Amino acid sequence: MIAGCCAIDAKEADARAGLGAPAASAVCPSCGRRGKPVETLTVKALLAVPLTDLRDVEYRFCGTAECPTVYFATDGEQEFGEAALRERVHQKHMEVDDVPVCYCFRHTPGTIRDEMRSTGRSTVVQRVTAGVQAAQCACEIRNPQGACCLGNVRTVVKRLEAQDAQAILPGGLGQERLEALSRRKQTQTP
Ligand SMILES: [Zn+2]
Repeated sequence: MIAGCCAIDAKEADARAGLGAPAASAVCPSCGRRGKPVETLTVKALLAVPLTDLRDVEYRFCGTAECPTVYFATDGEQEFGEAALRERVHQKHMEVDDVPVCYCFRHTPGTIRDEMRSTGRSTVVQRVTAGVQAAQCACEIRNPQGACCLGNVRTVVKRLEAQDAQAILPGGLGQERLEALSRRKQTQTP
């Protein structure tokens, strides 16, 4: 027996038993990548359209950067793009300075870079962590992904650190960063 035949048989059997459809429904209809499960409360909180548009189905979040869809219904009947949301979405604009990466405490790549340039380092991860520990966050109703932003914040910090490191390589200028470092030394010296 050839393996290919068995695979088709198994698929057909699944389809007959009604098992085929759910696996496909987790996939974004626009980009074909798997969406992340998200609470309906998050979709309700983030949508700018009348909530009567929502139906009693599961919605998922698409984090693909180049895909215009943010939320889609797993029955394949509905998609919401960024224009239907109250926030711009970090995953769709990861390198845009004024699009939030942390929606609860409103940090953006721009504010993170400003701190790095003026003090020589970033304390954003510590500040977000402190806020989370103090129960000051509300990721499920603030962040379009419906979950904590810390992983995204760490990625942004790493990217900006790498850019700054690139800037102080021989041939690069990095003057702002060097000045910030020397300012920091001065303020630390009694
Ligand atoms: Zn997508």
